[in-house]
Amino acid sequence: MQHGARTPLIAGNWKMNGTRDMARALVAAVAEAIPEGVEMAVIPPAPYLALAVEAATGSPLAIGAQDLSQHAEGAYTGEVSAAMLVDVGVSHVLVGHSERRQYHQESDALVAAKFEAARRAGLIPVLCLGETLAERESGITETVVGRQLDVVIEACGIQTFAEAVIAYEPIWAIGTGRTASPEQAQQVHALIRHRVAERNATIAGRIRILYGGSMKPTNAADLVSREDIDGGLIGGASLAAEDFLAIAHAAARV
Ligand code: PEP
Repeated sequence: MQHGARTPLIAGNWKMNGTRDMARALVAAVAEAIPEGVEMAVIPPAPYLALAVEAATGSPLAIGAQDLSQHAEGAYTGEVSAAMLVDVGVSHVLVGHSERRQYHQESDALVAAKFEAARRAGLIPVLCLGETLAERESGITETVVGRQLDVVIEACGIQTFAEAVIAYEPIWAIGTGRTASPEQAQQVHALIRHRVAERNATIAGRIRILYGGSMKPTNAADLVSREDIDGGLIGGASLAAEDFLAIAHAAARV
């Protein structure tokens, strides 16, 4: 994190966890304790988005969704549109999380279409990129992450990244307790920023690139202190207010 240039963003992806009561309590606990100099967002399951927005009212806590449809409206049973998310007060949306790519066969092209749908509606897409363990061990991490990013840039245009966030999430580090080392993460973050800079240096200097993959209070400061790591996308540790806030405090001190 280049201090002062980019405000750290700490976002918590609850995945398919929680209840109404838990959602209300967790949002309230986070909303009232956001440290100075850090932005925070929580990303609950779709049924709890409206109540999360309500519970965060009056605080700077942003509410994000975990997915959206690439379609604007119509006969798409089970889907949620970007306009609906905006309508209930959501500001951010994950696009291309590895669990969507892996379990729902989301292709790079579909991820790009979702990114475009989010931007058109005025949502801030959080574009998730990351390689599998096999890809890392084959030495193709940069090729894979570069391809995932380039497809979206080519389809949507670099200007759409002016109001976007990128999350580098090595798949082998998600929910495994195995974190990328700060050096490993920084190397990929620098590559991502470089690829954005090749198209637009101003956007590259401003865009936040979050790290995701078993980030915890104990490793957050080490990761976020690296030049190109501008915060975290946190899964497991975002389900306990104390841990989630401890990560935010660690980012605030960097
Ligand atoms: C995630 O779900 O995006 C994530 C990074 O999960 P965890 O922090 O549990 O590895």
